[in-house]
Amino acid sequence: MELTKRQEQILQIVKDDGPITGEQIAERLNLTRATLRPDLSILTMSGFLDARPRVGYFYAGRPAHSMMSENLHKLIVNDYKAMPIVVPESSSVYDAIVTLFLEDVGTLFIVNAKGFLAGVVSRKDLLRASLGNQALETMPVSIIMTRMPNIVTCTPEETLYQAAQKLIDFAIDSLPVVRPLEEGRNMELLGRITKTTITKAFVELGNDPTV
Ligand code: ADP
Repeated sequence: MELTKRQEQILQIVKDDGPITGEQIAERLNLTRATLRPDLSILTMSGFLDARPRVGYFYAGRPAHSMMSENLHKLIVNDYKAMPIVVPESSSVYDAIVTLFLEDVGTLFIVNAKGFLAGVVSRKDLLRASLGNQALETMPVSIIMTRMPNIVTCTPEETLYQAAQKLIDFAIDSLPVVRPLEEGRNMELLGRITKTTITKAFVELGNDPTV
């Protein structure tokens, strides 16, 4: 829940000088008690403040759900990204499959000769290519990859929450973390965010006693 500037001011006053009456808070803010009433009710009902008759308002602390949500939105992709596992465009489907096993990942990023992001290959893409019993050693991985500009990406500055939202919206397992260069024509590959990254962050949040 986002607090308004005035609600934040009220919280600060109660934190510093509580218990304090509504009347006194209104005086401090140069407002009438009537003007403050809706803010005080919101803060009391949402658990920020405790009200005792004839004593006044006490600071009750940020409600747990509010802290959880605030902390969640502070997590930044840059702090959680893992190394991207890449193969060159010219690699064969066979080599891509070997890399997938050796690196123990579910998605590979394909880079062009200049090292920029060219495509994405998932384990099902590779499985599909293998089904036809084709010559996997000679088939370039670029034939089966999902290619630019259809790749869903994220930047290091985005929140982990925004990245997780993209994984859900596009029903994919992995996002390349990129820095667009030359007005977005090329993508420098900086890392990867996967469903595992999100699961790890989720567990970390749950283990943090301050959340
Ligand atoms: P799997 O296919 O193994 O279930 P995904 O759900 O991640 O794995 O991939 C589904 C499809 O989406 C695949 O064809 C894959 O190439 C493509 N894909 C995977 N990641 C991305 C991405 N970041 N942007 C666009 N397409 C992607």
